[in-house]
Amino acid sequence: MASIFSKIISGEIPCYKVAETDDFFAFLDINPNAKGHTLCIPKKEVDKIFDMDDELYLRLMKFSKEVATAIEKVVPCKRVGMTVIGLEVPHAHVHLIPLNTMEDARFLQKTNVSKDEFQELAKAINSAL
Ligand code: AMP
Repeated sequence: MASIFSKIISGEIPCYKVAETDDFFAFLDINPNAKGHTLCIPKKEVDKIFDMDDELYLRLMKFSKEVATAIEKVVPCKRVGMTVIGLEVPHAHVHLIPLNTMEDARFLQKTNVSKDEFQELAKAINSAL
């Protein structure tokens, strides 16, 4: 069965898309730690990130770096942090989180973002790529 993230890639489930290439996809996390919290994923379904083959893994890191650089240009923050967890969704993904305090990195305190704000953030990050 396709993962929820594969359904996002195929358009079966809506998302706020930030970027897409032949092999990778980036979209805003629906329950963000901070405004601009973005997930970068390989289109190929692999559960654990360190099970990805080296070549795809390194290209996911490069893609994530490009998206992180764009986030930092448009979202006010001290820096963009990168985290990998995967306990909720078994489809490898990199969390890119704009950080101002340690709380932003802890996945405990969540931020409310309106539909309009999600749309504006996704568009702004995409434009900064
Ligand atoms: P984890 O697998 O623990 O790294 O967490 C999965 C992340 O995916 C969480 O931060 C969720 O908020 C996020 N997430 C789950 N479903 C969606 C969705 N439909 N659109 C965007 N983000 C999602």
